[in-house]
Amino acid sequence: MAGNLNVTWIHGSMNCAGNADPPIQVHQFDPDTFILRQSKCSDPGTAAQPGSSFEAPFLYLLFGISKALLLDTGATASAARFPVAAAVNKIRNDRAARLGRPVVPLLIAHSHSHGDHAAGDAQFQGQPGVSIVPLGLAGVKQFFQLPQWPNGTGTIDLGGRMLDVIPAPGHEPSHIAIYDRRERLLLSGDTLYPGLLVVNDWRAYRRTAARLAAFAATNPISHVLGAHIEMTTRAGLWFGLGTLFQPGEHRLELTQAHLTEWNAALQAIGTQPRVDRRTDFIIYPAGLPLPPLGQ
Ligand SMILES: [Zn+2]
Ligand SMILES: [Zn+2]
Repeated sequence: MAGNLNVTWIHGSMNCAGNADPPIQVHQFDPDTFILRQSKCSDPGTAAQPGSSFEAPFLYLLFGISKALLLDTGATASAARFPVAAAVNKIRNDRAARLGRPVVPLLIAHSHSHGDHAAGDAQFQGQPGVSIVPLGLAGVKQFFQLPQWPNGTGTIDLGGRMLDVIPAPGHEPSHIAIYDRRERLLLSGDTLYPGLLVVNDWRAYRRTAARLAAFAATNPISHVLGAHIEMTTRAGLWFGLGTLFQPGEHRLELTQAHLTEWNAALQAIGTQPRVDRRTDFIIYPAGLPLPPLGQ
């Protein structure tokens, strides 16, 4: 049951021109679960014109018996710079060969519709056995049968592995969280991760926190796995936006206790948005001045 998170994530470079990291790091959490991280140096751009890869998002690939889910496709469209389809298809093909079974169909969903989570979609378009959940609220609601959005939950059946789809608007209107009943993972996207939690709709975000906390009360969580790392290992200290080098990163995984703390912090703040710097994440209402790196 317990997966492996004993990994050092690639975290960019002072000088991306001399960086030898692969464009995508693939980490096997367990035989059916893979975590991919985009290299900060895969599309660094220039000082005058930053590229797309500073976001260094995490992508999640989950296998069941009959289907696989890829949650998010990364920040960069170019297959030359960021060959996400090739990396995912290699994992699918290697797995099928090892098991002596056909390659399972792939469903691609998005934590939300921001470009740093969906830019790689184009690399998969038109591939046999691949379907892609449309971007945006209307398509997400329809695909996962969530007419009462943001209430209710949907499901994805991977075959022997059920996932719950939980509406999580606030950072972005069509944001979802995914709960893996088998491994008890909560894939939380940009809603909760060790970084600057940008809140675009305060009311919706607080309600999302309350719903996720209520969900977790009856569905225990082994790890909360988000889409970025922006905190350092030092309490409350973050790297700032747009960095290409993050030595001393916080761990990717958060705990159920973090989720409880996050919800309690939001409910304590109440209806008047303000920044709340915690040890492992920073709640940041969009539009306010960006918080300094440290206290
Ligand atoms: Zn986002
Ligand atoms: Zn993001």
